[in-house]
Amino acid sequence: MLSTITIISVFTEIFAAGILISGGLTFLHKYFVPPHQRKDLFLSGLFLTLFAFLAATLASQLMFNLGRPLAELIAMQKWVSGSLLLSSLLLLAYIVEKFNLRWGHLLTVLLLLVVGYYLVELFQATANLVYREEIIEPVVDYSTWIPAKPLLSGCWMLLAGLALWRGSLTSGGKKVLFFYTGGAALLFLGALLSAFYYTRFAEAGYLLAAWLIMLLAVLALLLGDLIPPETIVANRPLRFLRTRILFKLVLIFVLLIVILFEVTTLVTLNISKNALSQTIRDSYFRFADNIAQKVSALPVQPKPETLQAIIEKEKLKENNIAFIVDARGQLLAHVDKKRALLKEDLSGNQGVAKLLAGQAGAAEFKDEWGGLMVGAYMPITKYHWGVVVEEPIFSAYFELRRLETNSLLFVIAGIVLTALTGIFFARSIERPIKELILGTEAVSRGELGYHINSSSADEIGRLAEAFNKMTKDLRDSQERLILSEKLASLGTMAAGMAHEIKNPLVSLRTFTQLLQQKWEDKEFRDKFSQIIPHEIERINRIAESLLKFGRPMKPELTKVDVNSLLEEVILLFESEAKKNNVRVTKKLATLPQIYGDAGQLSQVFVNVVKNAIEAMQKNGGEMIVKTDVGEVIKLGKMKRQGILKGEEMVWGEEEDLGQPTPVVFIEITDTGEGIAEENLRSLFDPFFTTKMTGTGMGLPITLRIIEEHKGSIKVRSKAGAGTTFIITLPQKS
Ligand code: ADP
Ligand code: MG
Repeated sequence: MLSTITIISVFTEIFAAGILISGGLTFLHKYFVPPHQRKDLFLSGLFLTLFAFLAATLASQLMFNLGRPLAELIAMQKWVSGSLLLSSLLLLAYIVEKFNLRWGHLLTVLLLLVVGYYLVELFQATANLVYREEIIEPVVDYSTWIPAKPLLSGCWMLLAGLALWRGSLTSGGKKVLFFYTGGAALLFLGALLSAFYYTRFAEAGYLLAAWLIMLLAVLALLLGDLIPPETIVANRPLRFLRTRILFKLVLIFVLLIVILFEVTTLVTLNISKNALSQTIRDSYFRFADNIAQKVSALPVQPKPETLQAIIEKEKLKENNIAFIVDARGQLLAHVDKKRALLKEDLSGNQGVAKLLAGQAGAAEFKDEWGGLMVGAYMPITKYHWGVVVEEPIFSAYFELRRLETNSLLFVIAGIVLTALTGIFFARSIERPIKELILGTEAVSRGELGYHINSSSADEIGRLAEAFNKMTKDLRDSQERLILSEKLASLGTMAAGMAHEIKNPLVSLRTFTQLLQQKWEDKEFRDKFSQIIPHEIERINRIAESLLKFGRPMKPELTKVDVNSLLEEVILLFESEAKKNNVRVTKKLATLPQIYGDAGQLSQVFVNVVKNAIEAMQKNGGEMIVKTDVGEVIKLGKMKRQGILKGEEMVWGEEEDLGQPTPVVFIEITDTGEGIAEENLRSLFDPFFTTKMTGTGMGLPITLRIIEEHKGSIKVRSKAGAGTTFIITLPQKS
């Protein structure tokens, strides 16, 4: 019969098996997604062979309990040893890949040969299994030596050494993860040692310790390789288990079920075991009592032959032993007649000792050879003799063990089933939540086109639906705002244009009015033909720049003269600037032409210039537009969040170009109200505005265009003192 500790270790085993198989599948899956690391494949193999080892161990324990034939038990033990041999091979292959050992491949091939050889040996070997009481793991003696455990231990030692050494050389998350792997290897060694002690000393506590340690080891090994070293969780790997709803749900679900199952099985098993063993002992007691009464009822002291006849007449079960001893513990009669004839001394039998002391009872005790028996003893007071009826525990409790094993099997099946449904349910909850998270992340990155596919009809499905509607609305209003932002700029610029066109129109009118009178005047004609085309060209340019701005956004890369784009924009905002008491200063350097989209770039300048003028609406001030050429190393690739560098917020310096790249700088400074520090971060967020009639779309559009040009934008500002925007554009994008 299994003790409570043994049954708890069986449950621990099941738990470890669950982690092993999920670990094996996880790493297999990991191997099939880029970057396809071979170490994951070997690790998966290691987990799966360890699972095979565990399953075989569990099966052999249950099969022994069910009294399966020895041949089957031996086959099981061979499976156990075989999976250990294979796992040492996979472990070494994993070590070689993980640590990139140059001489490792040679070692793996060597171990492959060794393992192959011993697998063949194992297959051919005969085996001797020694089971002892309270033993569910036999001592296995193969006809040849199979070094399954030494090989495996050697590989674990190698892993422990390498991982701890490598860990001590690195730092941060990497170090922690290496220590986890090393710790796992040490724990595995500990588990092997504890299992060895168990077979050695037959203490169930060692078995439980072995499985508990193994459980921890498997977990540590799993975490050590599953967590990406560069993430924050790498510093505290146990946190990893809290990073996914799936883990939490499965852990709670499975733990709860296992514990619940465990407790109920333990209780019911113990109750029925006690009841059953009581009935068994009662029946022995009745047998012994029966014999004692028959002997006492005889009129004269019976001869040994008479006693022998009484014993042989009793309808005992197959493995039952009954005997009568005299006052010194010597046999008078025995089911095995030969032993009675030899008058064996059975005083060493604990049952005999009890009855010689005058006690009667039914219990478990040791026989004369130290074997555990269950049975009854009964003194025959009339002659100071006694009767013992006993049976080896193994056969006596066979039915009990069958009951125990069958209920354990049910429990295992139950646990596996609930774990599977648990995982299935947890996944079905987690998947749509994950989708939602991806969606919200996408939206926070500004991808408003993201659509969540969710077919579930529950709350999460409704959440997804609401989310999709929300993004669609956002998209619509964003489009409308982009349009109104553009229209607003266009309005200002149209006013500017009207103003700008007025002067040339006046001179045109004057000239045409004078034309008829002064047609004969050569000087007038010369001046006319000089000025009129110039003025018409001026009108044309202004109209064109407005047109350029009004065109829909469709990037078209051409050679662009940044300075003249700026001049046009400034020109169109000139009247607006004058109206707001803003002085405009230009400090334009000679620039090379750059590759870009003229319409889009002019939109960028319009947005920034417009903001600058608006910032000085109250008190007027100065706007300085400066350009320059230069070289930078970092440019392009943008995160949505700007990065604070000193006093500046910077967008678009995430990429290291590796070499100095020629760029142009455009710096637009105003002496306006400035930007409060807490607003600096959200400056480029869509819809962020501090103005009554603002759209909050000017800067997001600006950012997107600069991103498309692979440039960067910096903002430097002090509340009350003014703002500078610096735009950097590569000369060739
Ligand atoms: P809008 O101009 O419609 O408000 P923008 O995206 O162009 O939207 O600008 C967002 C916000 O950034 C503005 O509301 C303003 O608070 C701030 N901002 C932008 N440029 C300046 C500047 N030059 N000076 C002060 N604040 C500015
Ligand atoms: Mg604006």
